[in-house]
Amino acid sequence: MTKTIYLDYHATTPVDPRVLDAMLPYFGAKFGNAASGTHSFGWEAEGAVEVARRRIADLAGADAREIVFTSGATESDNLALKGVVAAAGVARPHIVTLATEHKAVLDAASTLEGAGCRVTVLLPKPDGLVDLDQLREAIGPETVLVSVMYANNEIGVLQPVRQIGEICRGKNVLFHCDAVQAFGKFPVSVDADHIDLMSVSAHKMYGPKGVGALYVRGQNPRVRLTAQMDGGGHEGGMRSGTLNVPGIVGFGEACVVAAREMADEYRRLGVLRDRLKQRLEEGLDGVHVNGTMEHRLAGNLNVCFERVEGDALLVALPDLAVSTGSACDSHGHGGSHVLRAIGVPDELLQSATRFGLGRFTTEEEVEYAAGRIVEVVRRLREQRPV
Ligand SMILES: *Cc1c(COP(=O)(O)O)cnc(C)c1O
Repeated sequence: MTKTIYLDYHATTPVDPRVLDAMLPYFGAKFGNAASGTHSFGWEAEGAVEVARRRIADLAGADAREIVFTSGATESDNLALKGVVAAAGVARPHIVTLATEHKAVLDAASTLEGAGCRVTVLLPKPDGLVDLDQLREAIGPETVLVSVMYANNEIGVLQPVRQIGEICRGKNVLFHCDAVQAFGKFPVSVDADHIDLMSVSAHKMYGPKGVGALYVRGQNPRVRLTAQMDGGGHEGGMRSGTLNVPGIVGFGEACVVAAREMADEYRRLGVLRDRLKQRLEEGLDGVHVNGTMEHRLAGNLNVCFERVEGDALLVALPDLAVSTGSACDSHGHGGSHVLRAIGVPDELLQSATRFGLGRFTTEEEVEYAAGRIVEVVRRLREQRPV
């Protein structure tokens, strides 16, 4: 095999050809602005946006009117946290989140903290999951929002979202869930999980980059949210700006494909991921899996190799596109904040390798990747005995 094998599906996914086909007309003849209410170009674009909005809502078990389009999940996370705090009308609002959240949540929370908000960042248990008793205790009378993600983008662990939602509902606190890595992979229901706000992104589910959405509960309770961008009052006043019509159409199509294929795909990816893990553990000693295997995204494996330099590993494997830590953190040093939060020791941190398997990953690719890693790790250990 000569071409690079892509095993970084948590960073982004290729656009599914069916999604691309659905988008193309909206770069061409169907170029209208969805906000142009005076002619057929605008009506056509608006119609396409509303079809997509319903498709995204259907996949979330939501109503179409509860979907706010954004430029991606980074914006959705920011809008959720900052928008809820701004609308809360509390003197010193308090939010609760988890140390293993995506930076879009953690950095938004720290900006809010600088602006006078109180923020509690809970440490997960060593298996990566939130401690529900700690969460319950952290919620106080001034708490306006709990933000905990569905599936972690580095270690793939699945948080007990339904129980978190029940706790929040019981205490009358809003629950925001960054569901980027879960949405389109397995069934997600905002009602069953008691989610009040949910961030999703098209490019993590075989749609285009630069388009996402925030689900905002419309009733029981109706979420009050202050827009973070001023302008023409699009999206029910929650997010101004001309809509990315081709991107939104692609997002909608990605949801249709996901709804149809996710069950088979999830099963297939679980088998492939387990095979990868098995091959690594058979071929090598000193392999540590990060995060629980029991509650985990099917396509995710995150491992550390004893006595191996992470950089040397990447250099030796130009034919594998994998990630050390998180792509979103790749400019920072000091290792992944997620792995640190679950207590991975310093000497293992830098060899952490994230495998993200997805729709176009084949059995042959997994076998090849496993073989190459075993070979390279053995060689590196021989070259640098401790
Ligand atoms: C990728 C990702 C984001 C950011 O989404 P963008 O659409 O790329 O801004 C947020 N949260 C999680 C969990 C992610 O994996």
